Amino acid sequence: MRGKQKGIEMSRFWNRRTRALDPYVPGEQPRERRFIKLNTNENPYPPSPRALAAIREAAGDALRLYPDPLCTALREAVAETYRVKPEQVFAGNGSDEVLAFAFAAFFPSAQDGTIKDGTIKDSPIPDGARPILFPDITYSFYPVYAGLWDIPARTIPLTKDFSINAEDYLYPSGGVIFPNPNAPTGRALPLRDILSVAGYQGNAGRVVIVDEAYGAFGGESAVPHIRDYPNLLTVHTLSKAASLAGLRVGFAIGQEELIQGLCRIRDSFNSYTLDRLALAAAAAAVSDTAYYNEINQRVIATRERVAGRLRERGFEVIPSTANFIFIRHPRLSGAEIFAALREQGILVRRFDKPRIRDYLRVSIGTDEEMDEFLAIITEQQ
Ligand code: PMP
Repeated sequence: MRGKQKGIEMSRFWNRRTRALDPYVPGEQPRERRFIKLNTNENPYPPSPRALAAIREAAGDALRLYPDPLCTALREAVAETYRVKPEQVFAGNGSDEVLAFAFAAFFPSAQDGTIKDGTIKDSPIPDGARPILFPDITYSFYPVYAGLWDIPARTIPLTKDFSINAEDYLYPSGGVIFPNPNAPTGRALPLRDILSVAGYQGNAGRVVIVDEAYGAFGGESAVPHIRDYPNLLTVHTLSKAASLAGLRVGFAIGQEELIQGLCRIRDSFNSYTLDRLALAAAAAAVSDTAYYNEINQRVIATRERVAGRLRERGFEVIPSTANFIFIRHPRLSGAEIFAALREQGILVRRFDKPRIRDYLRVSIGTDEEMDEFLAIITEQQ
């Protein structure tokens, strides 16, 4: 079964909000059959041995007690690694939760048109909140969060080559969010473009969120610039670069007033979003930069090798600074290649959406896994 519950489409018990939702569908996590899993951007290498040791140590009598609601040790570890202050760090149950809280905390909902903060009155939508902006092709959870919190949103088309054109974001909005590098394309936006969006005067009172889920695979992080841009929030995850998708830890970095906004949402929802095992492992992982640099350099080297081989075989491969590639065959449809790979035990991700339905997003696995993938995909031609 996929992410959505099968069967029930509507229920008289669901309130209006629940009826209106259009939930996100995560990539398949197969249970019955062994696949080479290249569909959810997990890291093929194991987590830091220090993180695993920390879990074993934390799995004891102390589990009787609630965890630290402030996530102090983890926030201190993040602060040290990223050279910021612990007060500039917020931790949550996966970056999905951090993103959901950020949408709730900062982006204006449809009812916010009545707020008199001086920036709403010249809104292009009379008496309404200005819409937030994100790319038409991006992480598909963003429109879901906008729907959940009733936040008006406007999508901005990527350019023909699937780039984000920063200038398209230079008009007054309710806020901006995009991943850097973008997903599922893998294309990065230069730091100067991000800063131009964050520094744009029309966005002065609005938050610009840069989702750096894949930032460790070659992109430029905006973290050092939170000092100069009070409206800039970066969001990070331990699911990809830190090989800990199963632990569910993410965090945000920004100035203290943004972090406090996230805390207000969290503390109106669930005081303990991270358990003791997750907190201990995450703090150890965030500090083990040497281990992670090594495994992620391997992922990057494999990515470049696979991209080169696919291009030689005539595939279009979007330049990627992520742990996945976005590819298309000049003649075969995305659906055909997806089905052929699945048939032979390889799972990749395909989005049945305009402009990208013939593309496949392929996570970078080990060299052996990618060799199998290459053997099967090049057989298709
Ligand atoms: N942002 C982006 C762009 C992603 O692709 C993902 C992974 N699906 C996430 C955030 C969420 O990651 P997690 O909740 O595992 O931290």
